[in-house]
Amino acid sequence: MKLWVQGAAILLLLVGGSIAGCGKSFKGDADSASGRIKVQIIAPGSVTNDTAATTPYSFAVVDLLDVYDLVSSSGKYAQFYTRASRVEGHLLGTQPRGQFLKSKEGTFVPKNFLTQQIATLYYHAQNLVRLETSLDFDSKRNKPLKIVLDTPVLNTKQNENNAFFDGDLDAIVFLKYSEGNLPLSLNGGVFAHEYFHSIFDKLVIRAVKNSDVFSIPIAINKLINSKTLDDVKNKDLSEQVKKLTVKLAEGPVTLDADNVKWYYSLLIKGFNEGLADYWGWQYVNDSAFIAHSLPQTITTRKLDLKSQNIETLQLLSEAEMLSIVYQVSESDEEKLDLVNAYSYLLGARVALFFKTYSETVQRERGLSDTEVKKNMNQTVINFVKSLAKSLPQITMASAQTELKSPYALMYDFITAQEIKNQNECNLLRLFLENDPNWSNKLECVASGQSSSSQFKLATKGVQ
Ligand SMILES: [Zn+2]
Repeated sequence: MKLWVQGAAILLLLVGGSIAGCGKSFKGDADSASGRIKVQIIAPGSVTNDTAATTPYSFAVVDLLDVYDLVSSSGKYAQFYTRASRVEGHLLGTQPRGQFLKSKEGTFVPKNFLTQQIATLYYHAQNLVRLETSLDFDSKRNKPLKIVLDTPVLNTKQNENNAFFDGDLDAIVFLKYSEGNLPLSLNGGVFAHEYFHSIFDKLVIRAVKNSDVFSIPIAINKLINSKTLDDVKNKDLSEQVKKLTVKLAEGPVTLDADNVKWYYSLLIKGFNEGLADYWGWQYVNDSAFIAHSLPQTITTRKLDLKSQNIETLQLLSEAEMLSIVYQVSESDEEKLDLVNAYSYLLGARVALFFKTYSETVQRERGLSDTEVKKNMNQTVINFVKSLAKSLPQITMASAQTELKSPYALMYDFITAQEIKNQNECNLLRLFLENDPNWSNKLECVASGQSSSSQFKLATKGVQ
């Protein structure tokens, strides 16, 4: 992306200017810097509150807090590893040695790309850990987040242009980036996406660890596997969906245990990815945040109806979910890749729902950006907490009618919401009515005065 290339050129100019300006090597100052430190990073204007920012990403001077050692950018919020490896389940690696220059104003300016990454990532980790701390749930992070850079392969076949959260290591891993756009490690939205996985992992993935129906490995949160995603994008499921729709209309479809496990792998990964995309969108206020780094994802991950090729806000239907589950592959490993890739299809729909709901709540209640963020962050965390309770209760199904559907999960979410007016209620009603179980069966009714909700969704004729 051109913007990034320009950014890099500006960085070189600025570093050059600073050298000429202060005329001394900065190393000694950086070695002793700790606590609260002014640093120049590259970040979205929406995150740094830089009103002068005219491009999605630009330079900004920010305060890094509770830094123990600026050279390695380690502190209360983050700790970095390079040339990392996994030894007996533990993360080993070398601390990076950043190089900074100090401006006349006392701002530390990264001298090279590695230093730019650690300074920028520390800032995002600081924001997201502090956000996590402000939310209401158990087992919040109390250790610095581990972030891995400059490491070719840890546990994935793909070794470039990817980022993921590794639940076993409790680390966010950035692989080498070679696409020539905004590097993934400087993309604040991508960082927030991966950070969300750490919360989902702690609350939900660990809760279903011993569940048979969730026993297909789902812990590796690949951001994207571009080859499989390409295959998936070029695959047309519509014929199979049509056939299945006819079959489902005739009566329940029987399922074997493997089908059920693939189904739940798709369901949980889809919701994990979707909520993570929502978290990323909300952090940077940018519905195409992934495309700044990986432009080929734009059609599947961008959070609007047109990019997702749908006319109304909806999830995947029962027939679509099963068509994905029934995709045959030569090996389980290949099928895992396939279901992983398809999970982003469900994920994008989930993310788009939460984005639309968030925008509706903001508009209808006249909330500021800060207010709606605070409200919706806790709303999403409450949903994650409810998934951590409901998903482990799911038992093996023998027919499709016994499966917990994506809409059933959303029904649980929606009925837990305070609904302030008719417009909010209609959005939720129309969304649920996409599912045949609720089609034309719901209505918005005024709730009693004792309730903090002004409206509730009720089944027609039953009150
Ligand atoms: Zn992800």
